[in-house]
This record gives sequence, C-alpha cells and structure tokens, in this order.
Amino acid sequence: MVLDVVLVMGYSRSTKALVKLLQKKYRVIVSDIKKHENENNVEFILQHEIAQYLSQIKFVVKSPGIPYHNEEVIKIQNYNIPIYTEIEIAYQEAPNFRYIAITGTNGKTTATSLTHHILQQKKPTIVAGNIGVALSEYVSDKQEDVVLELSNFQLLGIDTFRPHIATIINLTPDHLDYMLDVEKYYISKTNIYKNQTQDDYFLLNIDDENVVKYCVNIPAKIIKFSTKVKTDVYIENNKIYYNQKEIADLKHFPLKGEHNQQNAMIAVMSAYLIGIDKQSIQQGLASFKAIKHRLQYLKTINGVEYYNDSKATNPESLEVALKSFNVANKIILLAGGYDKKVSFDILKQYNSKIKKVFAFGEVKQLFSSIFDHVALCDNLQEALQKANDIAVKGDIILLSPGCASYDQFESFEHRGDVFIELVNQIK
Ligand code: ADP
Repeated sequence: MVLDVVLVMGYSRSTKALVKLLQKKYRVIVSDIKKHENENNVEFILQHEIAQYLSQIKFVVKSPGIPYHNEEVIKIQNYNIPIYTEIEIAYQEAPNFRYIAITGTNGKTTATSLTHHILQQKKPTIVAGNIGVALSEYVSDKQEDVVLELSNFQLLGIDTFRPHIATIINLTPDHLDYMLDVEKYYISKTNIYKNQTQDDYFLLNIDDENVVKYCVNIPAKIIKFSTKVKTDVYIENNKIYYNQKEIADLKHFPLKGEHNQQNAMIAVMSAYLIGIDKQSIQQGLASFKAIKHRLQYLKTINGVEYYNDSKATNPESLEVALKSFNVANKIILLAGGYDKKVSFDILKQYNSKIKKVFAFGEVKQLFSSIFDHVALCDNLQEALQKANDIAVKGDIILLSPGCASYDQFESFEHRGDVFIELVNQIK
C-alpha cells in the first residue's frame, strides 16, 4: 500500500511525539534547518529541499515557532497544501478527550496550572500544550479531561479543534515580529472558539477592551466574567459568584493581585462547569503554589518579604506586579535588563508605592526618569545587596525586571534562579 506523504516542518519537542502518531497512517518526512541522521524510520530533509516534494504532500504540520512569512511556508501555501499545528492533529487522534483551552497575552501558564491543579483534586487530569508537554504525548481513545495552554502560534494552525470550555484571558500587542500585524494577532486568538457549539462555553473577560472588541460571533454559550462589575461571574468580598450564587471563596488562595483573581475566576468557573464540587475547588485554591518566577513569594527575612517575578519581561508585567501590592513607600524594586526600546511611562503612577529602585542592565538609566528614588547598579547581585542594606521590617524586595534578560542572563528562568540562590544566601 502506498502511504500518503505528510511533511513535518521543524523537529522540535512538540513535533517528535507527533511524528510517531503520524507514522501510523502516513509516510512522514521531516524538514529542519539542521541536518539530522535518519532515525526511527523518519526521513529527514533540509528545509530548502521541500520544493522537490510539494507535488506529493497531503498536508503539512508546522512547528509553532516557524513564522508564516518563512519562504518555504509561503511556497507551501501557494501550492494550496493545508498547514496545521501539532494540536490540531493530536486533537483529531483523541476523539474522546474533553478540553479546557486557555489563551491570552499574559497569564496563560498561571490560569492553566491553576485549572489543572483544581481538577486534579478530583481525578488525574492531563495538562499540555504551550506549557511544556505536547498533546501528542497523551493521545489515546480514553475519556480524559485536558487543560490546554495555547499560544497564538498554535492557534493559527487549527482547523477542527473544538474545546468544551475556552477563554482568552486578555489581548495586548505582543509578538509583532512574528505576526507583522496586530489585527491578525488578535484574530488568530479567536480561532480558539471558532468550532465551539451551543453545547460549549466561552468565558468572556469583559474587563479587557480588546477581548470585548475582537471576540465576536462566538458560537458557544457565553459566560461573562469581571473583577470590576457584577456580571455572570464576579467577585464580592473576596468570593466568586456565578449567577448570584457563591461558588468559591478566595480566603486561602495564596496568589496576589487582581490579575490572579481573573486567573482564579477562569479556573474555578471551568471546574464548576465540568461538575467539580465546591469542596474540591476550595482545596485546589488553597493548596496551589505560586509558579516559579511569577510573583513568586520566596521568604521573609527579618520582616522583609522577598518576591521573584523574573518572568516580568515587559513594562505591563512589571505594572501588574506593582499593582498587586497595596502599600505606600515599601517596595524596593530590582529592575532592568535588555533594552527592547519600549516606554516605561505607565509605571510613573506607582511612584508612591516605591521606596527605592535599584536598576541594573542596559536600560538602567531609564528608571531615573520614571521614579523619584533610583540608584544604578552593575548587576542583580549588587542591586540585591544594596536593597538589603536599606530594607527594614515591613518592606518588600521585589525582583520584577520589566525587561528581557538577554544582556546579563541566558533567560528569565536563569535570572530568577540566580536571584533565588542569592536570597537563599542571605543570613
Ligand atoms: P504567560 O504564560 O501567558 O506568559 P504567566 O502565567 O507565565 O503568563 O504570567 C506571566 C506574567 O503575566 C505574570 O508574571 C504577570 O505579570 C502577568 N499576568 C498573569 N496573569 C495575568 C492576568 N490575568 N492579566 C494580566 N497579566 C497577568
């Protein structure tokens, strides 16, 4: 029997598991910019060799990281060959899974992990997608619940994917280098609900202007949520209400800030909709641990609290961190890093919360024009040392750089790990 040919573009973590799946039905060719030795019956070709195969290829699965303006991708599109992402194929191979799909510019990992953690209180549940493990690795014909974190790169290659519950947490411009066009970026996210039906739910964040503007023609049942006004799902006295009925209490939920209340509403509502009982929801909220590098509380030393928010790689995330602390003149901020040439002006309004900024990295000068009390340092270590020197009981030492890390670190994880290590050394 002659098998149809399928091309997988890019040999990455997510496509490795996929190749195994595809091999059950197709002859799989994998293209990459690096040369690979043939292994496990996979035929590797170099990217520029794709042209020779165009007439034979049934469909292409593209690694999310390869942009649509890639020369070979354009050739494939001109040849009218469909291009999917790994999620779509894995979805087709796991017909009995029930999906909760979460996307947005910020908060995806937090909302996804929290939802998963709450569902886990009841029974083992799969978590996959952008969060690190490919959905393909879990594919089976069993009935499973799956919490999926989706990036817009993954959503661009969706055809039939239909989640039972979906949400777009927020929409702010990001990844413009990949998408070229902000409208397209927003619209790509709305793919998350395009195949939903009236048997499904879309959780609509009415606090986000862009979500309200771009999320139109939603075929699912819409459930509105807000931290600001009373709507289908809202917060009052630190409790979450759905249709005026209390469904969860946030008293023991350890994550700070209004943004995390949004994440909690998404997680709680998703759990509620699939029938998780109130007690399990409470247990899940109370036992959730902050995710590493995301406004992660580390410890209190001599009455001074230390937080690692190394994941804050843009001014908006730094703003979210500052908003989370309801204090005056108590935050000692460690910020700075690689210069993305963006404006930090939105941070001026938080000046009164800040005791002092110890700025480091390429952009450090810039902070002097934003906050009143700024000292320039050579690196994170010096910044922390100086922060320790002035901190008194009740202060907060917050690493929330507001910048990418590439000037002095390998990644935001590396930067956060260095900070944790330094804090652990404090006597
Ligand atoms: P993502 O996976 O989308 O990058 P994370 O959960 O890793 O998001 O959070 C990254 C940063 O985004 C956090 O440190 C915080 O500053 C911000 N953030 C988290 N949740 C939200 C939210 N609901 N709204 C706005 N910003 C958020």
